[in-house]
Amino acid sequence: MINLLDLAPADAELALRAFLESEGEPGYRAGQIVARLWARPVATFDEMSDLPVRLRSRLADAFTLARLSLVTSQASTDGTRKFLFQLADGQMIETVAIPDGDRLTFCISSQAGCALRCAFCATGAMGFVRNLAVHEIAGQVRELALLTDPLRATNIVFMGMGEPLMNWKAVSHVLTILNDPKGFGIGARHITVSTVGVLPGIIALGERREQFRLALSIHAPSDALRQQLMPVNTKYPLADVIAAAAAFDRRVTFEYVMLGGVNDQPAHADALATLARECQAFVNLIPLHPGGSMGFTPTPPQEIARFARRIRGHGVEVAIRKSRGTDIAAACGQLRVERIGRRPPRPADDHGEVQVA
Ligand code: SF4
Repeated sequence: MINLLDLAPADAELALRAFLESEGEPGYRAGQIVARLWARPVATFDEMSDLPVRLRSRLADAFTLARLSLVTSQASTDGTRKFLFQLADGQMIETVAIPDGDRLTFCISSQAGCALRCAFCATGAMGFVRNLAVHEIAGQVRELALLTDPLRATNIVFMGMGEPLMNWKAVSHVLTILNDPKGFGIGARHITVSTVGVLPGIIALGERREQFRLALSIHAPSDALRQQLMPVNTKYPLADVIAAAAAFDRRVTFEYVMLGGVNDQPAHADALATLARECQAFVNLIPLHPGGSMGFTPTPPQEIARFARRIRGHGVEVAIRKSRGTDIAAACGQLRVERIGRRPPRPADDHGEVQVA
């Protein structure tokens, strides 16, 4: 059976038209059905009340609408909500919804676990399990729109579990579903793909004609330090990542997590500013969760402010990200870790090749 939620809206419409024709039903119904997948989603064919009852049951015989099951959710006093979903094979993934004024940003996961083992990251410590399918990534956005009190994203960031550009084939389809007016209809400039610097994926993202945003996890301004924090730096060294960012024809953001006494000294700020100037990047400084992570301690807020001023002094735009949901374990991977405990990391090789469509 075809899972309609694994298809881009145009492909779902084609599959449905062929089906409707074989059933002797009018072709315009395909558009009605597609509208109920993402834009005005319903959980089952039976709930597509604008269709004849007989057609709804025939659709259920021919197609599926795979669900993610919500295991638990937490709400922070600042309005941030975190959701833990279980997939058909029992894997758990997380999604975070972050309100900010009239914006609601969903931070979505693209892999179960992650192979890249960044030293400060709870997801990396779990090891890689598998890539998520299209319906499991886009389904996070759909499931929150199906809640009794629906949550509709205005912005999407691929900053949940996993490295999205190591699962490019699926992520590329998901970008279409998110952006297409027949999908969620979220503007491309409101959708950010965050990567450690997977070069083939950055090129593939740059080749998309939509203005999707790119965020690069830099986290250290030299190869020596980045190597310690992010083993992937061996494969994609800083100079190559910066060159890819400079070649990307849209504005790039640098993500930089502030690790007390590790990457937060004045010399780091100067070196980071030099890199940012090379590719006209905007720098986002990310305070570590107040409880620390993986043995790292947070840089105190006043030192983060000083670090930001130093970068700004080099003529580089910089912002300090607000810590959100700090009372609910909202750092990447934490809810899942709390729920099922840690598993020993697998070697990065288990992950296989970077998939580029
Ligand atoms: S920070 Fe991102 S890329 Fe690094 S281990 Fe965690 S999930 Fe993977």
